[in-house]
Amino acid sequence: MERVSIVGAGIVGICTAVALQQRGVAVRIIDERDPGTGASFGNAGLVSIDSCIPIAMPGMLRNVPKWLFDTQGPLSVRPGYLPYASPWLLKWIRSGASEKHVSLLCRALRRLHKDALVHYRNLLGARGFNEVIRLSGQLHVWDTPRKSAGDLLADRLRAEQGVVARDLSVEEITELMPGMARTVRRAQLYENNGYVATPYQLVQRLFQQFIDGGGEFLQQRVNGISPHSDGAGFRIITSCSDLRSSRVVICAGAWSKRLLKGLGIDIPLETERGYHVSFDSSALDLPMPVMHKEHAFGVTPMGESIRVAGFVEIAGLDAEPDMSREAALVAHAKRLFPALDTSRKDRFWLGFRPSTPDSLPILGGLDNMPGLFLGFGHGHTGITGAPVSAEILANLITGTANTIDVAPYAINRF
Ligand SMILES: Cc1cc2nc3c(=O)[nH]c(=O)nc-3n(C[C@H](O)[C@H](O)[C@H](O)COP(=O)(O)OP(=O)(O)OC[C@H]3O[C@@H](n4cnc5c(N)ncnc54)[C@H](O)[C@@H]3O)c2cc1C
Repeated sequence: MERVSIVGAGIVGICTAVALQQRGVAVRIIDERDPGTGASFGNAGLVSIDSCIPIAMPGMLRNVPKWLFDTQGPLSVRPGYLPYASPWLLKWIRSGASEKHVSLLCRALRRLHKDALVHYRNLLGARGFNEVIRLSGQLHVWDTPRKSAGDLLADRLRAEQGVVARDLSVEEITELMPGMARTVRRAQLYENNGYVATPYQLVQRLFQQFIDGGGEFLQQRVNGISPHSDGAGFRIITSCSDLRSSRVVICAGAWSKRLLKGLGIDIPLETERGYHVSFDSSALDLPMPVMHKEHAFGVTPMGESIRVAGFVEIAGLDAEPDMSREAALVAHAKRLFPALDTSRKDRFWLGFRPSTPDSLPILGGLDNMPGLFLGFGHGHTGITGAPVSAEILANLITGTANTIDVAPYAINRF
């Protein structure tokens, strides 16, 4: 059978490739980079099966001035990029304006995330799963003692979706995390959530399975995709090949918008840039990942390192990294864990979250371009959303019915 061509060897492309192989479909992946070195490389590694709250929520409009002028805040927009980002930002704010709409998004996020661990086990096999996934639980923390209106709304939306998060007392927090600063006044424990040993190891393991299963990998840049002039399938023009394929899947993360432009398809996809600083694992002893919700960063124990990841920066794909973020992340981590040995810092990293305005990915085909499938836009939760997205895409590509309603992820919602 002719190979399905997937553009992008991040977590979404790789999971989709393995899911297709498991259905007996031959697959070719094309990526200009080493597999797993896009956004899938440096994220916080959380498999947050209970995460179902979109980023844009009611009441966010009042925060816009702060984002524009506080360049070190959890969310910032580079002033020079504002004219380019404005249409997306407006859609983003609109997406979170009504509680009714947000509740629908929660349901769709819940469906995509809640079975992530089951689907990772299906993709990786029991041995691979045990090697790369850690089932530790996750702790979310706040410095403010009282829940805000936004926190209460998020609790209610989570409860609607059957998510159970346990509120901890200050004594319980100290018992669970003795090394955490006493400035933390509130915490929620998500016992069912986990994280990956390292996100790169996860992708590389799946990639090896893909190759062992007869998969073809071309390390080439895709410069353009167009319908073939004879009307059958697509031409994929890469840095050194002119390929033909009747089924093409775009899993190019934050770069997908550029690729689709050539096909005349305009999508509201922006990159929410994020950073990490990693430390040698001896810098801190941590039993599970901790997310500081007010400062929007997370600290994950990743085997050989402690990774501190966070920030949302709207500045596009081409702007240079903001080097001041490194010191800001180190300072956040040191404030939360005073015993952290900051002399053991070993890497600073910038990555590109592929984000839609409503926090849902775009999954599925296009009515007017049979054979073209889209699988990107997972924003803050691509490691979590990838395995179920792969299941959805593999079913759509092979003409198999999906058991979950895929309409919320269709491109025509925009
Ligand atoms: C700081 C940070 C923390 C995060 N933390 C978490 C977390 O804890 N949990 C979670 O679930 N998610 C997290 N995420 C989000 C997650 O990392 C992303 O949603 C996910 O990695 C996206 O995967 P992807 O496969 O769509 O994209 P990518 O991993 O970016 O892969 C896209 C691939 O497409 C390739 N490509 C693009 N254009 C072309 C072209 N023209 N030709 C050839 N190849 C091309 C790229 O080289 C790349 O390899 C975080 C992200 C960041 C930045």
